[in-house]
Amino acid sequence: MAQSLMNKTPGGGSTAFHDKQISMAHGAGGEASRRLVEELIRPLLANDWLNPLGDAAVLPAQSGRLAVTTDSFVVQPLRFPGGSIGELAINGTVNDLAVSGAKPIAITASLILEAGLPTEILRQEITAMAAAAGHLGLPVVAGDTKVVEHGKADGLYICTTGLGAIHPRAELRADRVCPGDRVLLSGPIGNHGMAIMLARAELDIEADIRSDTRPLAAMTEALLETCGAGVKWMRDATRGGAATVLNELARDARMTVVIDEEAVPLDDAVRGACELLGLDPLQVANEGQFVAVVREEVAAQALETLRNTPGGERACLLGEVRKGSLSRVLARASYGGVRVVDMLIGDPLPRIC
Ligand code: MG
Repeated sequence: MAQSLMNKTPGGGSTAFHDKQISMAHGAGGEASRRLVEELIRPLLANDWLNPLGDAAVLPAQSGRLAVTTDSFVVQPLRFPGGSIGELAINGTVNDLAVSGAKPIAITASLILEAGLPTEILRQEITAMAAAAGHLGLPVVAGDTKVVEHGKADGLYICTTGLGAIHPRAELRADRVCPGDRVLLSGPIGNHGMAIMLARAELDIEADIRSDTRPLAAMTEALLETCGAGVKWMRDATRGGAATVLNELARDARMTVVIDEEAVPLDDAVRGACELLGLDPLQVANEGQFVAVVREEVAAQALETLRNTPGGERACLLGEVRKGSLSRVLARASYGGVRVVDMLIGDPLPRIC
């Protein structure tokens, strides 16, 4: 197993950078750029890999299989109940590694800033990144900063790359999924999408709904430790919600997935908001939930493992995999009916992450 590269707690607190807002000069590569990086960004993210500020971070060799993922974050608004773009950038990247069976070991971040962005907002978001990464012992080892003219971007975009070491027992592939396998869900769904919708004040309803943004690495690692290759497939249910990843599972495994609609954990506020808006909670985005397919023999143990891991208390047995060349997702309702759960079509809520 790869060991953590983090050998220093990230910095934080006050920095020497006193410019009130970001200007084109901060992206020009000269003195202002140097001050932005050396006086604001590096002190907040400080670690031994980033600190030399070379053209590339030089990391020790890793044994075993590596996972690499990359992502962009353009969420609007930048801050929303339960989280913000900086935290989301770390957690979202970590989660793509985690559901690939990897323990995150390093991350890079490229910042695209709009001229005129108040420095305080940038400081808050880098601090949020440092906190989310520091919480996982994950160093931000490299980065880049660009500035575009006012009006040519929307405050702040963050592009990340994550590097992870695959768990030695992980064998995650859709072609290993077979009839009888059980489908697990890590917890209540729909919170992130509804929180963003409410934060944009596009809706005429008020509800206390917070994004579920959080790292999933502890849960996925516990699952792999306990069940090893008994875990066959995992995916985080982000854009398009659980419905989309279940459809991807059905398509990639060439099976039918049958879920129990009653089993889907939902917070009351999310359920109410979805009913009011005519939304299917299965299609609403999440930033802290994943779907796992496990062998029937280990399903009870897998569920217990999830429920005993902090954050997994409301994990549930969502359904099972059945033979079926149509690659459909079917939901059994309490009254005995069955409906087809479609993948999210179109983009009803752009820029959710
Ligand atoms: Mg993903």
